[in-house]
Amino acid sequence: MSDTAFIDTHAHYFDKKFDTLPGGAAGLLTDPAFLSCVRGIIHVGTNLENSRTVVQEAARYPFMVAAVGIHPEDCQAYDETTVPLDPDTELSQLEDWLSDPAARRRDKIVAIGEIGLDNHWQPVDRERQMAFFEGQLSLAEKLGLPVIIHDREAHGDCFEAVLRHPAVRGVFHGYSGSAEMARQLVDRGWYIAFGGSVTFKNAQRVREVAASVPPERLLLETDCPYMAPVPYRGQVNHSGYLPAIARVVADLHGMTVAELAEVTTRGADQLFHLREFLTDL
Ligand SMILES: [Zn+2]
Repeated sequence: MSDTAFIDTHAHYFDKKFDTLPGGAAGLLTDPAFLSCVRGIIHVGTNLENSRTVVQEAARYPFMVAAVGIHPEDCQAYDETTVPLDPDTELSQLEDWLSDPAARRRDKIVAIGEIGLDNHWQPVDRERQMAFFEGQLSLAEKLGLPVIIHDREAHGDCFEAVLRHPAVRGVFHGYSGSAEMARQLVDRGWYIAFGGSVTFKNAQRVREVAASVPPERLLLETDCPYMAPVPYRGQVNHSGYLPAIARVVADLHGMTVAELAEVTTRGADQLFHLREFLTDL
C-alpha cells in the first residue's frame, strides 16, 4: 500500500454492473493495482437483502467493512410490478439485527446507511421515505451508530430530520447541498463526502462547496459502480479511481494528495471507528 491509499467511504460492490467487468467485483477486489490505492472500503447496502450481501463480502476482505440500511428509493414502489416495503416490518428486522453488539462486531457493521430522502425519481412516496428515514435515525440514536445519508434534491428536509436527532452523527454522502448547509452540518459534528461529481467539468459549484469544508471533515467516496470521475466517465466506477477524485479535492485545499489521504483517513476512522476492524490504519 502506498502513502496515497484512501478509504472509499461509499461503495456498492454487490451491484450487477460489476458483472460486466472480466472477473467481476471479485476480480477488482483482489487486483494488486486496485489494492495499492485502497486502505479501506465501506460497503454500503440499500435494503435488507443486499445489506446481507454487503456483510458477506466484508467477511471475505480484510480491508472491507459494512454499512446496512434501507435507501429511500428501495422503500417505495415505482410501478405496478413492485411492492413498497412496510416500515414496521423492515425497521423491526433491522433493529433486531443491529441491537446485538456481538452481531454488529461479527458482521463488521460500522454505520446505518444508506438512508435519507430522494425527490429525484418519480413518483415520490414522501411519507414512506420519511417513515424509513426517521425510523433509522431513531435507531442510530438509540444504538449510538453513525449514519450515511443520501440526500437527493431534498436538502432542507434532510437537514431538518438531522436536527430532530441532535445526538446522531454521520456523513452526507455525494454532497450536493449548499456551502451554508455544509457549514451548519460541520458545526454539529457532521462530515461531508465528495465523489466523482467534484471532477466533472460543469461542477464548479460542487468544487466551491468542497473547498469550503475543513479538510478534517471531508470524506472521499466513489459511490461505485456509478459516478466515475473524469477521465473515466462512462466506465464502471470503482475504488481504484479514488486518486482522480482526491487530486481535485487536494488542489482545492492546496494540499498534496498524500496529505489529503492522511487527513481523510483520520476523519473516516473518527466517524466510523474503523480501527476496530482495519488493523493497519
Ligand atoms: Zn450509494
